[in-house]
Amino acid sequence: MEKQEIKRLIEHYQSKCLELYEKIGTIPKSIMFACSVDECIEDGKYLVMLRDIYPDGEIFYEPDETCSYLCERHMMENQESKQNSGGTRPCFSYKYTNKNLAQGWSEYIKNA
Ligand SMILES: [Zn+2]
Repeated sequence: MEKQEIKRLIEHYQSKCLELYEKIGTIPKSIMFACSVDECIEDGKYLVMLRDIYPDGEIFYEPDETCSYLCERHMMENQESKQNSGGTRPCFSYKYTNKNLAQGWSEYIKNA
């Protein structure tokens, strides 16, 4: 990859990070630019977020630290694997995201 191209990519993702920070007030701990699925070399087109609504109405909405980014194909595959793991509150399991089975479900923010 050309240096110029690398520079362009870094700038692109940095502006994305800034946007995210302004939107949700936090930046994912591990900023990775590729899909988080092992051996996948596609761009991480979607940032994975975990959303939950507490009984008191408060909303939890933070980056999924168990799977930061997904490409288009793996996002679709992940959605198809979505399963309700029961319990009194929504808690969904997926092939790639929410690996710690936290309460809530996965949502995605698409990179431009
Ligand atoms: Zn992928």
